[in-house]
Amino acid sequence: MTVATADAIIVGAGIMGCAIAHQLAERGMRNIVVFERDQIGRGATADAAGGIRQQFSTETNIRLATYSVRVWERFAEQFGQEISLRQQGYLFLLKDPADEAVFRANLALQQRLGVPARWVDLDDIRELNPHVVLDGVYGGTFCPEDGWCDTYAATIGYARAAQRLGVTIREESPVIEIAVENGRVTGVATPDGDVSAPVVILCSGPQTRQVSALAGLDIPVDPYRRMSWITEPFDALPPTLPMTIDFSSGLYVHPESGGFLFGMANRDEPSSFEKSVDEDWMATTVEALVELVPAFEDASVLNGWAGFYEVTPDDNPVLGFVDEVEGLAVAAGFSGHGFMQGPAIGACMAELILDGRAKTVDISDFRPSRFAEGRLLQEHNVI
Ligand SMILES: Cc1cc2nc3c(=O)[nH]c(=O)nc-3n(C[C@H](O)[C@H](O)[C@H](O)COP(=O)(O)OP(=O)(O)OC[C@H]3O[C@@H](n4cnc5c(N)ncnc54)[C@H](O)[C@@H]3O)c2cc1C
Repeated sequence: MTVATADAIIVGAGIMGCAIAHQLAERGMRNIVVFERDQIGRGATADAAGGIRQQFSTETNIRLATYSVRVWERFAEQFGQEISLRQQGYLFLLKDPADEAVFRANLALQQRLGVPARWVDLDDIRELNPHVVLDGVYGGTFCPEDGWCDTYAATIGYARAAQRLGVTIREESPVIEIAVENGRVTGVATPDGDVSAPVVILCSGPQTRQVSALAGLDIPVDPYRRMSWITEPFDALPPTLPMTIDFSSGLYVHPESGGFLFGMANRDEPSSFEKSVDEDWMATTVEALVELVPAFEDASVLNGWAGFYEVTPDDNPVLGFVDEVEGLAVAAGFSGHGFMQGPAIGACMAELILDGRAKTVDISDFRPSRFAEGRLLQEHNVI
């Protein structure tokens, strides 16, 4: 068994673990070890639809997204890693009258923070996506800067950049114990040996409740199965369409690799680590897709997969040091919209760890203690 010492240990090499490791290293911290039980970027990050949007309902999420979009836009140049970014916009379609006031208020907040999102009426929608059936739709919102990219490539881009700065990433290396002495974290144990460090950051995605239990904590992050499918190459619809979302049902669809990627959350399904693809839910989703865009009647499904949203009680992440164990920080629980926030979370967590406070975006509303304090902050725009 080897015993080593690091300045910081990160548990999990998804987008968050890699982005935080990179930002810490860029700020000068060198002796960082990232433990990944599987391989880099193969957790929730690999299963994401890759969507990047600024249309959120809380100021913190909008600011995190806006900062991140600027990084995604120059990622290929800055990191030397192509991420296939396509900024074709997010088009939200609204059917439930109760959503209008909320979306208009969110839009006002987004616009105040510099997001070029706008209200769209039925004519605007027909222009943006002429293929959707507008029965029941009364309007929506659109932001042309929103889009999607390749999540695996982005994560590898961060991981390689971190490694070039001296970060060690140990794959196939699960953290099985977190050592706490006199109320302070002192390191972790893995099957290959122990490593001590004064700072341990949990970036363990959907497994965070279980990983936090290793330190005697109960961070409320629960896994919820979500499925996506991709069609065979399909040219009946143009590849220039925006990400289109029926907000009432949660159905989303966007062009991908010559075909289209689509999915819809089964909101009645309880939390579990079940990762199989539910064929019944696929049939329900395809039916909803064809109802919204009849041209898909002629498409064939090429592939489908399941992954886990990492959901917290208010659909917002848990960010920062915990009160109970000194030196133990968390960046997890992004509730299905985390990939896109990776760049901002990397910057903010590095500032919090090195400077004691995040300056890029004030993330204090998402502090771990908010659950015990009963100060939850619900995100409305969850897909
Ligand atoms: C179907 C689907 C669609 C989605 N679509 C989008 C989208 O369009 N846009 C978007 O922004 N987000 C989307 N998401 C959400 C997004 O995937 C997550 O919010 C984001 O990837 C979380 O990143 P992470 O680094 O926190 O978690 P992960 O990528 O899960 O990384 C955590 C890592 O921790 C590792 N780990 C766990 N336990 C241990 C341990 N004990 N020791 C060592 N390593 C451990 C895991 O193996 C994993 O690699 C989607 C998710 C799903 C499932």
